[in-house]
Amino acid sequence: MRRRKFKEKKLRAKRIARQRIVILLKLADKTAREDISLAEKYGELARKISIRCRVPIPSEWKWRFCKSCKTLLFPGITAIVRTRSEKYPHITIKCLKCGNINRRPYLREKRKLREGLKP
Ligand SMILES: [Zn+2]
Repeated sequence: MRRRKFKEKKLRAKRIARQRIVILLKLADKTAREDISLAEKYGELARKISIRCRVPIPSEWKWRFCKSCKTLLFPGITAIVRTRSEKYPHITIKCLKCGNINRRPYLREKRKLREGLKP
């Protein structure tokens, strides 16, 4: 009985954590144009909640964190995003804070586009 209650409590905490992460990241995107340091603070807070409660960051925002300095990146403000397709199609995300370059393939998107054009 006690065990079940403990589990319920834990699940509730995780649900709240997930909600808070989404709220914080949306708020960060909204405030990025006005106050970049505040927006970065929101991103840091969201990351800390994610680690502490063991809740993954939603996939829409996963690539927005620098792999090196862990700050939330804002394309056009604190990051440069470019597409490259020399060896394999990928996007490069350059963090303007530490200069680290993160790469992400976009094969799936390209395949989807090709399938969409066929019919
Ligand atoms: Zn960085």
